[in-house]
Amino acid sequence: MNNFTEQRLVANCGTLLFRTDASAHEAFGFECMDGWADLIEGSLRLIQRCAELEESDVKITQVKEKFGLLRIYQSGGGENVCQILDICELTSGCLCELCGKAGKLIMLDGWMLTRCERHGDGHHTDQIELPSGDEHYISCYVRTVDSILSFFGADAVRWVQQECIGLGRKRPFEMLGTEEGCLAVDTLLKRLEYGVGA
Ligand SMILES: [Zn+2]
Repeated sequence: MNNFTEQRLVANCGTLLFRTDASAHEAFGFECMDGWADLIEGSLRLIQRCAELEESDVKITQVKEKFGLLRIYQSGGGENVCQILDICELTSGCLCELCGKAGKLIMLDGWMLTRCERHGDGHHTDQIELPSGDEHYISCYVRTVDSILSFFGADAVRWVQQECIGLGRKRPFEMLGTEEGCLAVDTLLKRLEYGVGA
């Protein structure tokens, strides 16, 4: 991960991160590319909030790309923290790891990777515009996943993987990579709340 992106994440979510060398203020060692930075920040903010509510001591021990998806490992925390991490992993499969645009899981030279159309051929990786942190998207993601958790409780992860007629037969996690998609899920939840079929 680019140093600047890493510093931003550490500055915003540093208290959650487990670091053996506490003097290394700017380093954590995110083992993935920058395209997932906003998704990581949103997920960590949610976990922070969750940990405060549960009064549990959660520490993020590792953040890495594995089999093309974003894996965040933690110690401590209850069921909601685990659900936040599962939803984050599912969402990462729809976001290009390099640039953060819409992508999908592909096989490239024997590796599973999540890439957008442009980066899916293994070329064009020289001029990547690094995402600089989209506060609108991050706060929208936090709000939407929070609503999903309050609405579905322990069934949240199962629900985000179900096709929804109200989302044009897409699965909710496929919408969570963009602000517009999060808003669409929010609208759907409000309709469900008021008993309108979805
Ligand atoms: Zn890309």
